[in-house]
Amino acid sequence: MSAAANIAINGQRLWDAIMETAQIGGTPKGGVKRLTLTDLDKQVRDWFWAACEAAGCTVTIDDMGNMFARRPGRDNSLPPIAMGSHLDTQPTGGKFDGIIGVLSGLEVIRTLNDLQIETNAPIEVINWTNEEGSRFAPAMLCSGVFAGVFSREYADSRADRDGKTFGAELDRIGYRGAEPSGAHKLGAHFEVHIEQGPILEAEQKTIGIVTGVQGMRWFEVIVSGADSHAGSTPMPLRHDAMLAAAKMIVAVSETAEAFAPSAVGTVGLVECRPNSRNVVPGEVFFTIDLRHPSDKVVADMEDLVRAKIAAILSDGRVTATVERTWDSPAVHFDEDCIAAVARAAEASGYPARKIVSGPGHDSAYIARVAPTSMIFVPCEGGLSHNEREKSEPEQVTAGANVLLRAVLDTDQRFAERARGP
Ligand SMILES: [Zn+2]
Repeated sequence: MSAAANIAINGQRLWDAIMETAQIGGTPKGGVKRLTLTDLDKQVRDWFWAACEAAGCTVTIDDMGNMFARRPGRDNSLPPIAMGSHLDTQPTGGKFDGIIGVLSGLEVIRTLNDLQIETNAPIEVINWTNEEGSRFAPAMLCSGVFAGVFSREYADSRADRDGKTFGAELDRIGYRGAEPSGAHKLGAHFEVHIEQGPILEAEQKTIGIVTGVQGMRWFEVIVSGADSHAGSTPMPLRHDAMLAAAKMIVAVSETAEAFAPSAVGTVGLVECRPNSRNVVPGEVFFTIDLRHPSDKVVADMEDLVRAKIAAILSDGRVTATVERTWDSPAVHFDEDCIAAVARAAEASGYPARKIVSGPGHDSAYIARVAPTSMIFVPCEGGLSHNEREKSEPEQVTAGANVLLRAVLDTDQRFAERARGP
């Protein structure tokens, strides 16, 4: 069967699945609190496992608790075409972040069953463990192990605030499989996700064809001056760390403006010492987050921020250290997978645009080991990591329809490639 045929997923069934799983850890404000490897996480995993088996899939887990639900194809020696995301949430998370990616995959399988479509390669839905990183930092932990970014020992040793480790909690809920994470080969990986930003909504696009994830660098800055009395220290004689930090914060914003429109720069955490209303501040700590789709521009932004900070320090009143604490290079998704998503959006008749992801996703790591792309759908006001996070049923349906077509398109392409010219 051709991917160009008039096929569509069952939007109501997908929406019902989202609303049903949202009860597991549902909050009074309409959000979801389902932290990784809690009893609620086990409950949603059990739900997902049963739903996949009911849809005729075989479910396996690896030693990081990543779940793989496989629908066989004609040639089961081929690596599967995968549709993955995550079922865990932030403490005050919404119903959509991550969840629609997994449940859209399930809906694609249910639709293939309804339409009796046999694919050439097997098709899989994946639930990646601990994407959010809010209980066990860092984020994207188990797609990271799968892709060889983190070791299993590192993942197992991550501890929550109560001192419980990832490894012990994974064992406790019974989701440790035998297969070493990463041994499971993937032919391709697609992920539907809410945009978590305002661009699609502002431009009235239904689908974001995600070409990659932007590069990101984090810094920690400590500005050192001298504490002194706010009443008795004349202005010319002050060593005011807060005043210098304020100028630096403006410099971060100016730097992002200098690389408009795609650059962003943020100071989101500031600590002032001694933080007393009648003391000229002697020390300020703050963080800087710089992002751009191009690694070269991120490096240029760092250079500019450092030059501006040096200029602010040139009067000698205060000193500062600027330490880079994280460097996450830009991710460029696979051209063929991006093209498959673009064709799928076009064939479905949805207004679409190419977009680079601001946040990180499991796909950012999986792209290191399998051809990958993502499909974004709008969310109201760009709001995410929030209980009021919201996408409309027709937007969620659109994402799953594009996923269905992108998977079939890729299956056909791989089959043609296997047959040769
Ligand atoms: Zn997510």
